[in-house]
Amino acid sequence: MKGRIVINRDYCKGCDYCSVACPQKIIMLDTKFNSTGFFPATIVNMYKCTGCAMCAIACPEIAIEVWRSEEGDGAN
Ligand code: SF4
Ligand code: SF4
Repeated sequence: MKGRIVINRDYCKGCDYCSVACPQKIIMLDTKFNSTGFFPATIVNMYKCTGCAMCAIACPEIAIEVWRSEEGDGAN
C-alpha cells in the first residue's frame, strides 16, 4: 500500500500531533508561518507514506487528507 497526504497549511495550528502519530516519522513542522501565524505541519519523504491515516485521525483541525494506492507508486 502506498500513500500520499495533503496538508492544508492554513487549517493547521502546529500542534504536532500528526508528527507524533506517524509511524513512519515523516511529518515535521515547517519553519515558515502559515497565514494564521502557526508553523504548519509538512511532510518529508512522501515516498515512505503507507496511507495508514494515523496522522489524519490525530489531527484536531481536520487539516490532513490521505490518499491510498493499492499498487504502483501512489505517493507520487
Ligand atoms: S498516512 Fe500514515 S505514514 Fe502517511 S504521513 Fe500519515 S501517519 Fe505517516
Ligand atoms: S495534527 Fe493537524 S493541526 Fe496539528 S500539526 Fe498536524 S496538521 Fe497541524
